[in-house]
Amino acid sequence: MSITTPSTTADRLFTEIHDGPTGWTGVDAGPEWAEEIRRLAAEKNATILAHNYQLPAIQDIAHHVGDSLALSRIAAEAQEETIVFCGVHFMAETAKILSPSKTVLIPDARAGCSLADSIDAAQLREWTAEHPDAVVVSYVNTTAEVKGLTDICCTSSNAVEVVQSIDPDREVLFLPDQFLGAHVRRQTGRTNMHIWAGECHVHAGINGDELTARAKAHPDAELYVHPECGCATSALYLAGEGFVPEDKVKILSTGGMLDAARETGARQVLVATEIGMLHQLRRAAPEVDFRAVNDRASCPYMKMITPAALLRCLTEGADEVHVDADVAARARTSVERMIAIGSPGGGE
Ligand code: SF4
Repeated sequence: MSITTPSTTADRLFTEIHDGPTGWTGVDAGPEWAEEIRRLAAEKNATILAHNYQLPAIQDIAHHVGDSLALSRIAAEAQEETIVFCGVHFMAETAKILSPSKTVLIPDARAGCSLADSIDAAQLREWTAEHPDAVVVSYVNTTAEVKGLTDICCTSSNAVEVVQSIDPDREVLFLPDQFLGAHVRRQTGRTNMHIWAGECHVHAGINGDELTARAKAHPDAELYVHPECGCATSALYLAGEGFVPEDKVKILSTGGMLDAARETGARQVLVATEIGMLHQLRRAAPEVDFRAVNDRASCPYMKMITPAALLRCLTEGADEVHVDADVAARARTSVERMIAIGSPGGGE
């Protein structure tokens, strides 16, 4: 993407951008900013994709909002030659893996993911050396390098089906999320499945005590729980013990939550995932009272994609995402296997 001469408005806004400890700041998401973002996107032939956990202003300016896999698919089918991925780095990498000929930009390449960082390629090589015949199943929250060493990727929607598709006599190495792994083990009853002890610090912070207190305070509410949450086990326990009727507990990916919101008859829903999700849920079903189980569950990496970062990205054509061609080819195979199994939904 070429660097263009900013308009007078962009020029003025651009001088206000500065880098800080939490990323690029200095620009408000007002009407001038919105107009400039749309103008620049059109000029650069770029489409803006935003993950469900992004700041509301970023979700509202994006051409498409969704979960990680849905956005990667949109990126692959987009007519525009540049994809601006407002999400975290592994998501932009996945878009690049599926659309190698397009320019993929992320407004701040420092937007990482504690879950994806919980295992690197060297650690995975060591683990597979200990279990040479095992099938490696990786959740989409992994780096391109780890995906390149993976047999089948999975999302939270099809993780159970992916593991069920594997010969029951083969060992399975499941990574990186221990809570999603525990959910899959529970569902499949599989005993020859090894689970990497990784976690997302945001989701793990949504704990069972908070969920129990919330569920007791709102006995008529439905519960939407992302399977990466530390409280997923508690939610199933609460249902099993009769504290919450079983049909009120729904373990869902972010895309699954939106589908459920559009169909629910409940007046109130407690949501256990990153709080950015509430914005899309409230848009999907404005008559429902959606409440966070933990309103401090905000991902600092997702929130690095600020209005200033997006303006800088479109003005400077930065930060560009690169994935080594060999790594991308291997990673693409594991992602395509994931898409072929069951209903992959959208992952995080
Ligand atoms: S919420 Fe957790 S899993 Fe999602 S991007 Fe942030 S750190 Fe990663």
